Amino acid sequence: MSFCQNCGKELPDQAKKCPECGADAAGNVRNDITLEELPKRFRPLGAWAYFGWSLLFSIPVVGLILLIVFSTGAARNINLRRFARSHFCMLLFIFIVIAAVLIVGAATGSWLTFTQWLARPTRF
Ligand SMILES: [Zn+2]
Repeated sequence: MSFCQNCGKELPDQAKKCPECGADAAGNVRNDITLEELPKRFRPLGAWAYFGWSLLFSIPVVGLILLIVFSTGAARNINLRRFARSHFCMLLFIFIVIAAVLIVGAATGSWLTFTQWLARPTRF
């Protein structure tokens, strides 16, 4: 897929001229772009950046605030924003699973059993 360098319209394959503005399509169109040419907000994060952000997001309280702020758009880089959202969803998921286990445990009385087990008389 290629685009007119003049007006930005998508060009049909093998088009010699842009159907929109008539600009010469041959040699005028680029299909490739290097990472350095990408605007900063679209640039992919490196593996170490993901690792570093994961560590930061794992800090209690501070990490959660960072996650919420970044997820809601403070992160200019789209990849960082999406990573923050995914990390936030994962935290939410873990929180729900733990809450469910605690609630089911409380409802079925397993916690009482567990405390009774803890308080059992020890035999030597
Ligand atoms: Zn054009």
